[in-house]
Amino acid sequence: MKRKVLSAILSAAMVASMLVGCGSSSSEAPAAEAPAAEAPAAEEEAPAAEAEAEAPAAEETAAGGGLIGVAMPTKDLQRWNQDGSNMEEQLKAAGYEVDLQYASNDIQTQVSQIENMISNGCDLLVIASIDGDSLGTVLAQAKENGIPVIAYDRLIMNTDAVSYYATFDNYMVGTVQGEYIRDQLDLDNADGPFNIELITGDPGDNNAKFFFGGAMDVLQPYIDSGKLVVKSGQTSFEECATANWSTETAQSRFDAIIASNYSDGTNLDAVLASNDSTALGVANSLAANYTGEYPILTGQDCDIANVKNMIAGKQSMSVFKDTRELASQVVKMVDAIMKGGEAPVNNTKDYDNGTGVIPSYLCEPVFADVNNYKELLIDSGYYTEADLQ
Ligand code: BGC
Repeated sequence: MKRKVLSAILSAAMVASMLVGCGSSSSEAPAAEAPAAEAPAAEEEAPAAEAEAEAPAAEETAAGGGLIGVAMPTKDLQRWNQDGSNMEEQLKAAGYEVDLQYASNDIQTQVSQIENMISNGCDLLVIASIDGDSLGTVLAQAKENGIPVIAYDRLIMNTDAVSYYATFDNYMVGTVQGEYIRDQLDLDNADGPFNIELITGDPGDNNAKFFFGGAMDVLQPYIDSGKLVVKSGQTSFEECATANWSTETAQSRFDAIIASNYSDGTNLDAVLASNDSTALGVANSLAANYTGEYPILTGQDCDIANVKNMIAGKQSMSVFKDTRELASQVVKMVDAIMKGGEAPVNNTKDYDNGTGVIPSYLCEPVFADVNNYKELLIDSGYYTEADLQ
């Protein structure tokens, strides 16, 4: 009953959806106040839901509560552990009960976990999908039961059961990486040509196309003009994709690329890697097989192993996505929906999941390298110095 009413209010609210805030203001605000993820430098207090003044609903929290199902893809990657524990901590601080589940990157496990959340009477679902296209059937059940769904970080495709989407600006992640390579190689002035290889993520993750697309929008003109040369010839998204974003898969693909194209002393000047788990595979492969000058290597997430690599000169940059900030934003969304209102969004045009545009909140990703990581990651309490030793 309560859910049906919630669902009706939600639909009405979404029709009248308003733009609230924008990425740039949100990117800094929560850092100081939000609790860190479970591993590094956890400060127990300070529910991050209070971090921004622009979400009025968050200030009146802890009223009725409710049960929130949080489905995360895997514990294998550092970031999802942080996402899960940040969400749990912040939702609890806002007065909600939480059912947090990880699915070992197994699609069927995630589907069963969501089914259980629905049958256990959860009031709202927050889902970071493994495969964006595989949740249609289970989410139809959610919709029948009047349970709102927030897609977390990754858009869930081809289902009309998704109410909102919260993520970082995925296209911007890619352009930041592409521009970094352009600027480091000084592509507009240097003669070149320079050798580059490309690697991106899981084809079932809608984000991967945005990351790769954003970067290629910057780099493609230089490939077309011959200033950048991809010796492997692998330039399409499909050729550069990495199932499950696996470090091992990335490493074996690069073992083969290096063996065929760079084992004779030819320099590899740059590698566009869409995230840190794939960048780690590239770095491992370079360490094992490559003797030329070390290439520029991009990444994303500022995972501990990759920040260590940045400090050691084995990765040039990463894109920092403060998982505390995303969790804080999603808690505001949850709170607004649970109180019968509309969730704060700042993008109503870019994320069409095949059934229409999903109202979204995009947090702003931040460039990180060896020069600013201390301020960004240590001073903000995300990591301690010891985490990076
Ligand atoms: C996330 C990235 C992450 C990747 C692998 C993407 O959907 O946005 O932050 O590196 O998945 O887990």
